[in-house]
Amino acid sequence: MNIYFEQGLKEEALFIENAVFSVYQTTGILVQEDRSRYLRYNQAVGGYEPGGLPKMLSLTLTAKDLFNSNSISAEDDYLYGFANQCAWVSVCRLRSKNDRPVLEVEIDEPMYSQRLEHVAIHELGHIAVRDQKHFREYIITNKTTRHQTNTGEHCTDKRCVMSQFDDLKFLDEHIDKRYPKYFCLQCQASIRIS
Ligand SMILES: [Zn+2]
Ligand SMILES: [Zn+2]
Repeated sequence: MNIYFEQGLKEEALFIENAVFSVYQTTGILVQEDRSRYLRYNQAVGGYEPGGLPKMLSLTLTAKDLFNSNSISAEDDYLYGFANQCAWVSVCRLRSKNDRPVLEVEIDEPMYSQRLEHVAIHELGHIAVRDQKHFREYIITNKTTRHQTNTGEHCTDKRCVMSQFDDLKFLDEHIDKRYPKYFCLQCQASIRIS
């Protein structure tokens, strides 16, 4: 499986390659490539949404701020990654202290690595976990504006890497409570990456 990364993200790509190998036993081939041709710029939110993603298993690491298709709220609709037949991870907000899009890493190295690992395993899990009968649609509601963001189907086991998280604070707490082997038994039983 190819792991694509933009210029400046080689260290992150190497780290993710290791994590992917240890969890999915699949070898990642690192390729430096700007894959923005598969994204569409959304002016309303000042970020990028999927636009004709390739139908081939891969993981792409980008510093661009990623959004849902047809996003309208820059404050609510951003994503740390997404997956369809290919998985994407954005470092743009994972680097930050408070969910803002940033250019530099603002947190300590172990925390950054843990977030990267979690999101990469999670996004690939959307492809690799074949039996998703125990998944449920997940909707985040902004407490002030009531704006709703649908982040799709996720595992209902809150300790599983495939459960959804609302923000970075939630993500960091989730990482602490997560199963040592990442997945719940139900997800684990149907993992197949190919
Ligand atoms: Zn997800
Ligand atoms: Zn699960």
